[in-house]
Amino acid sequence: MTALVLIEIENGKVRQASRSAIAAASRFGEVDALLLGNTGAEAASTLAGVRKVLHVPTLTHALAEPTAALLATLAPSYSHILAASSSSGKNILPRLAGLLDVQPISDVVKIEDESTFIRPIYAGNALATVQSSDNIKILTIRSSSFDPVAESGGNASLEVLDAPADDGKSRFVKLEQSQSDRPELEVARVVISGGKGLKDASNFHNLLEPIADKLGAAIGASRAAVDSGFAPNEMQVGQTGKVVAPELYIATGLSGAIQHLAGMKDSRVIVAINIDPEAPIFKVADYGMVGDLFEILPALTKAL
Ligand code: FAD
Repeated sequence: MTALVLIEIENGKVRQASRSAIAAASRFGEVDALLLGNTGAEAASTLAGVRKVLHVPTLTHALAEPTAALLATLAPSYSHILAASSSSGKNILPRLAGLLDVQPISDVVKIEDESTFIRPIYAGNALATVQSSDNIKILTIRSSSFDPVAESGGNASLEVLDAPADDGKSRFVKLEQSQSDRPELEVARVVISGGKGLKDASNFHNLLEPIADKLGAAIGASRAAVDSGFAPNEMQVGQTGKVVAPELYIATGLSGAIQHLAGMKDSRVIVAINIDPEAPIFKVADYGMVGDLFEILPALTKAL
């Protein structure tokens, strides 16, 4: 069996989520990587555990329609096709599954064997064991559940492929990307999140950023905080946001709604700061501080 992993590049490096997908794919046998766009070839070819990099330099921006069409032409050579459970992976792989008429299996957190996979359902409140009888298995992988392969140490061969003919169904317009020196939210070792209790965007900036700087943490947010304009969409943690499992998750001024817990309850240590001792977040917290975040956060930052 050979698996193909669609990898994503950020700032010339292979995203950690893609390296986790490669680690998952190595459970099936040999692993090839599909790289799109004109950067990242060197980074991809040194990835540990990759046999061959299929590089399509002219297919830029990973538009879902041509990428799925390309993957469909490559699919007969592979037993499994994987991508990270990212916006891009979840945009492309279901289309590929549609083209191949197979059932995609999303958010895989554990691989039992080559056709049996475990994935969360009901906002993470239950785990389903899914067995697939399809000839080609199409999987998206939760990065927090698989340790990533190393960025170096590999020596994959490089094969350059042509992009498929443009079907004219979609075109790239522009990319709006926020720049940040902080770690990626989904793979950060420490995450500090703010909720509606932060009261406005300036408090995210003035209270969360200094402590995140001290801890080398990524900043997350509840959906209520995002909907209120306190934080950008890409910071949302939860069922309809990002799923994180850091070593330390600090939840400040957020109540701990079930949809938020779905995105962070697998964190190793959870610290909750909330003024309401009855807030549901305390049920999942390892450490709780009952009090006003406007007093606790500056004191904590100073102490750190
Ligand atoms: P609130 O519930 O309003 O809680 C604010 C908290 O701040 C309270 O507990 C309060 O005691 C505390 N607080 C207030 N002032 C202070 C202070 N001075 N000091 C300390 N604490 C203070 N939510 C998500 O987060 N992520 C998702 O992905 C998500 N997906 C959803 C999907 C669906 C289909 C639905 C229906 C909902 C989803 N939600 C999601 C929304 C979720 O149900 C909650 O509404 C949301 O998580 C609440 O956000 P919050 O905890 O910030 O706000």
